[in-house]
Amino acid sequence: MAKSDYPTPAMRKLRVYAFDPQAATLMETAQISHATIEIPWEARWEAPVTPGPTNEYLEVIDIDPASGQFYEPLDLNHPHVLAQDGLPPSEGDPRFHQQMVFAVAMKTIKVFERALGRRIFWADRKMTVNGRTTYKRVEKLRIYPHALREANAYYSPEKKALLFGYFKASLTDPGVNLPGGWVFTALSHDIIAHETTHAILDGLHRRYREPTSIDSLAFHEAFADIVALLMHFTLPEAVASQLSSRRGDLSERTWLSGLARQFGEATGRYAALREAIDDKKDGQPDPTRLSKLNEPHERGAVLVAAVFDAFVTIYQQRTGDLFRLAGLDGTHKALPNELVVRLTHEAVKTADHVLRMCIRALDYLPPVDVRFGEFLRAIITADTDLVPNDPLNYRLAMIQSFRRRGILPDKTLSLAPDSLLWQTPTGKLAALRLAVASTDRVGNVRLDLTPQYRRAKSYEQAEDNRLRIWQWLMECKGERSEWEQALGVFLVSESAAHVLGTLRPNRVGDAPAVEVHAVRSSRRSGPDGQDLRQLIVEVTQKREGYFDAQYQGQRNADGLERKEDGDFIFRGGATLIIDLRDGALRYVIRKRIDDEGRLEEHRRFLQVGSSGLAMTYRGARVDDNPFAMTHRGV
Ligand SMILES: [Zn+2]
Repeated sequence: MAKSDYPTPAMRKLRVYAFDPQAATLMETAQISHATIEIPWEARWEAPVTPGPTNEYLEVIDIDPASGQFYEPLDLNHPHVLAQDGLPPSEGDPRFHQQMVFAVAMKTIKVFERALGRRIFWADRKMTVNGRTTYKRVEKLRIYPHALREANAYYSPEKKALLFGYFKASLTDPGVNLPGGWVFTALSHDIIAHETTHAILDGLHRRYREPTSIDSLAFHEAFADIVALLMHFTLPEAVASQLSSRRGDLSERTWLSGLARQFGEATGRYAALREAIDDKKDGQPDPTRLSKLNEPHERGAVLVAAVFDAFVTIYQQRTGDLFRLAGLDGTHKALPNELVVRLTHEAVKTADHVLRMCIRALDYLPPVDVRFGEFLRAIITADTDLVPNDPLNYRLAMIQSFRRRGILPDKTLSLAPDSLLWQTPTGKLAALRLAVASTDRVGNVRLDLTPQYRRAKSYEQAEDNRLRIWQWLMECKGERSEWEQALGVFLVSESAAHVLGTLRPNRVGDAPAVEVHAVRSSRRSGPDGQDLRQLIVEVTQKREGYFDAQYQGQRNADGLERKEDGDFIFRGGATLIIDLRDGALRYVIRKRIDDEGRLEEHRRFLQVGSSGLAMTYRGARVDDNPFAMTHRGV
């Protein structure tokens, strides 16, 4: 295209289905069935959008193996497409399907980048070169809108791709408005947001897809649902319509609280695939339910319900005065339009806030083996760092709704917000300072922290910093034992051999493999102009785990063992949060590698009966694609 003097547009507008094509045909939702997504126009330093669509982050590839078809890629820059904000929503035009997956995935990426204060990267590709394991950057996530002819959709960590399926709706199901019609998961706003979140989360915490506890896979599912659900509130027209028909009440089940409704109905569920508002008895959820659930989506649903409940509570707190001002008492029939507008504004703002609280918490989680209770601590700590005052008690709302569902952190006696904060380090670690500027002469480690706008450059910089931190840890200048204590890992082979015996050694030298697998910097702004700049470092280590606990004990006593013959891998490590304003270490969120209790828990989790839980997690069925929208046969 010829260069022009016309100013570059700020945003690219693309039309999508607000929920899914089914909503477009129902009376209740017909007027809110379409929405327009605005994604930032690529900056001067970014690659242009090319047919696919393909851009810096994504590559849509439309091959349909079931029918042997290849569909022409959509050109978003064609004047006819640009002139009408993208193709109009259509079930019959594959190019619209390409547009919809691209638009919703990009919107999800932007939601994360805004909350995290940095660019996101996809999980690296693991490769073996000359017998050594290395990791290679994955530039673009691939999206296949018509990958499978089945009622499912996946994020595939191996292919680094999102695979969307399509299927014929059940002929007999009365819940489906078009019996026997095709249902495309690539046209469901929820399913696209959910799968994209799996991919983003895998890029942030690549050990979270390992089945280490009953919470670990459930967390992935829950988080993907939380994002998809709260993103409903980025569609103000849909929110306004639901608030108007429900008299401003968000505590009832509506289109806004259900996930993937068309998919749910077309697969014979008579309802949304999943529902964020849980069953209650006398207004209270069952606090023992969580302890009875084993299936990842079901268990995750409890976490989703907790977050949604907190959202509803905060919304009620923010809007109580509006109802009183309008002189309404709950028995009213229709709301005045002006009130609907104000309530919509509050609901949209609250959802945005709660979603950001949840996403920011991702930086405050341990690098391995995450538990629901730790997510609560992460939310509270991350939010306190950015917003020290909490006059509207958002954090309390979050704690309460988690507690009502039996989600509690281990070893925490009190649930007061300040006792849920991660601990700040003491002793020598409290005195640690990073050299935060290139001219800084004080500090133990020198990093390159110049802001980088190009995504590739920013990745290279993170890789370079990762190496510098690793080297510094290996040298550890006379403070080794403090660091080992703080990180919960062992930096030299002598101490590792002494304590653990069965640590996996590095291939080259004697030192046990300590992996620094992320160094990320973030910049976030608080509501009162707070400027929070942080560096997040994840350090991990692995050792052999054996199903036979007695054998494990003997191996430990034998000293450093080089064979890699364990029954499973047991990992430990820590997330370090460093305040870049002064280089101080603020938190160390740790899972000790020598925690024998946790090792025993992991062992027991993997061994629960051959037909039970362990098979669900370890069997080929789930391992192939751990992030299916729904697990077949479960
Ligand atoms: Zn999933």
